[in-house]
Amino acid sequence: MKQVTYEGLTFEPYISKKDIAARVEELGKEIVRDCAGKMPLFVCVLNGAFPFASDLFRAVESIDAEITFIRLKSYEGTESSGAVKEVIGLHENIEGRTIIIVEDIVDTGNTIFRLIQDLEKSKPAEIKIATLLFKPDALVRPVKPDYVGFSIPTKFIIGYGLDLNEKARNLNDIYILKEA
Ligand code: IMP
Ligand code: MG
Repeated sequence: MKQVTYEGLTFEPYISKKDIAARVEELGKEIVRDCAGKMPLFVCVLNGAFPFASDLFRAVESIDAEITFIRLKSYEGTESSGAVKEVIGLHENIEGRTIIIVEDIVDTGNTIFRLIQDLEKSKPAEIKIATLLFKPDALVRPVKPDYVGFSIPTKFIIGYGLDLNEKARNLNDIYILKEA
């Protein structure tokens, strides 16, 4: 792994593909243990969460589960715009179901908070949050992720689904913005 550059910004290796894979397997085991027999519905938040959701969903192959996709967006460049807009809605009937929201990263928590408020209107039995990355120091909303891959400092990262203006999502490893 070496440094990568996007839009004049330099990023250095942070979490390897191998470490991501090992951690996702562990999260899968936790979900299998907690959700066996509940037929959980994974709700993948596009675009960023798609690689994580793909790997996590296959890590629970020993239980019955379903997956669907929703698209939300709150970021412009490397900073949260604050305003969360829903782009593609959820069409499944989720009443009485166990929902596992799958996010790439929980930063301020605005995105996931807004999504939980929306989903709760449809009366699911429970809503769990699975996020590959969590920036606890940036959190401004009362949300507590149930399954966290890695807790990280409040720094900007890319790769494995995470983007800088839609680029770098296809990097297999995760990279962190290098301090100037
Ligand atoms: P929040 O609403 O502030 O919690 O931000 C959540 C969304 O912002 C995530 O789903 C990501 O799409 C994006 N985001 C937050 N932090 C980063 C980052 O470090 N790199 C890339 N995208 C990020
Ligand atoms: Mg996202």
